[in-house]
Amino acid sequence: MSLKNTLTIWFGKLMVKVLHLLGKDAGNAPGLVLWELNKDCLKAFRVDCPIIAVTGTNGKTSVTNYLNHIFESTGRKIITNKQGNNLDTGITSLLLNNCDMKGRVKADYLVLEIDESHVPVIFSKLKLETLVLLNFFRDQLDRNGEVETLILKVKKFLETFEGNVVLNADDPNVSRLGLANPENKNIYYFSVEKYAGATEKPYEVGEGKFCPMCGEELRYDYYQYSHVGRFCCPKCGFGRVKPYVTAENVRLDVPSVTFGGEEYKISHNSIYYVYNLSAVYAAASLYKFDKKVLHETFEKFEVNNGRLEKFKVGGSDLLVNLAKNPVGANMTLRVMNEHKGEKELLFVLNDNLADGHDVSWIWDINFSVFSGVTRVVTSGTRAYDIAIRIKCSGYDPDRIVVRPDLDDAMKEFFNTRGSKYAIANYTAIQPTRAAIKRYKAGLKEGASNG
Ligand SMILES: [Zn+2]
Repeated sequence: MSLKNTLTIWFGKLMVKVLHLLGKDAGNAPGLVLWELNKDCLKAFRVDCPIIAVTGTNGKTSVTNYLNHIFESTGRKIITNKQGNNLDTGITSLLLNNCDMKGRVKADYLVLEIDESHVPVIFSKLKLETLVLLNFFRDQLDRNGEVETLILKVKKFLETFEGNVVLNADDPNVSRLGLANPENKNIYYFSVEKYAGATEKPYEVGEGKFCPMCGEELRYDYYQYSHVGRFCCPKCGFGRVKPYVTAENVRLDVPSVTFGGEEYKISHNSIYYVYNLSAVYAAASLYKFDKKVLHETFEKFEVNNGRLEKFKVGGSDLLVNLAKNPVGANMTLRVMNEHKGEKELLFVLNDNLADGHDVSWIWDINFSVFSGVTRVVTSGTRAYDIAIRIKCSGYDPDRIVVRPDLDDAMKEFFNTRGSKYAIANYTAIQPTRAAIKRYKAGLKEGASNG
């Protein structure tokens, strides 16, 4: 180990130690400082175990948590960034927290969620074994630039990568990356068979309608959601791949899905979620997991971090989902529509730094599909923007209530009982979950006092 690397690790460990002594969570800060001092700081670590990374616009946190659960439930020691600290600095902090004074990281596997734009920089310094790529949608444009720029970044990395690549065959933005390195024989596609809610016409504004290989307009047999579906280029044939894993017989009413001839009970009725599970199934199959573990996980495991999270609040059932972009929001609206009866929606929109200050993406959400929504409560720093957006979709403005303060919003939202759904964007999701828990605790206290 070079002197520079030794000093890097010692200094990093010291920072973590001091932060812990001060009673602080080491979080992102030590990594941030190390990167300032040494752009090659990741090279100072010695990681001997395989690294599995999950990336893509939507679903990274969920898929990472599922894989982590599967690996752990078979007794493996896993190091993971469950809470989604997924930039180079976050990964550095994670390794600092888990290494010895020589920079050695001891685990059976590292299962990491990685921001799309950080894949090349992190894995030019750490050896990656498997990359799982879920999807590419328009997201947080302020930070990432155009989605095409992002795809090209990952493509460049894959051009020389020889490890396993697990790709969504049904997203042309992702599927194209299977061709990045013709020498790599370790390309594994996953696909989902047409489900009952698939449409002939695109349901929402999407990316990737043109062939990334020759520029011809792609022909779709059907769309599952956004630009994800069965497509083919009539000119060059792009899109015809043989999937390694296909999710068959998707039944959102049960809900269940079939992998490899076996029916799996699953815990959410969303096609978007089925895609996540297909990625999990494909990655887990590469590591030869017992199917029993997968059955158990798919039926019972919950991420519970604002990702299709279920709450019971004073006689109401509430489903909370994070949405950082139109596709994520549309997905929750679709889950909501699967529920046939009356329901209410809470939409919490913030415009903090991590959200991107530009909230214009809300204009790409398809609110015209509202069915049986009897009331909408809006909250967050941009509560009025989202209220106006929903009003402009033709929804009755008398049924929209604006409560910028989250605690006020909870009081308003739960003054009726029934089926409820909440959508919150990136920096709004944790405060929303906290406000729900505060409100619930208040109910209990009220009941015990009364
Ligand atoms: Zn083509």
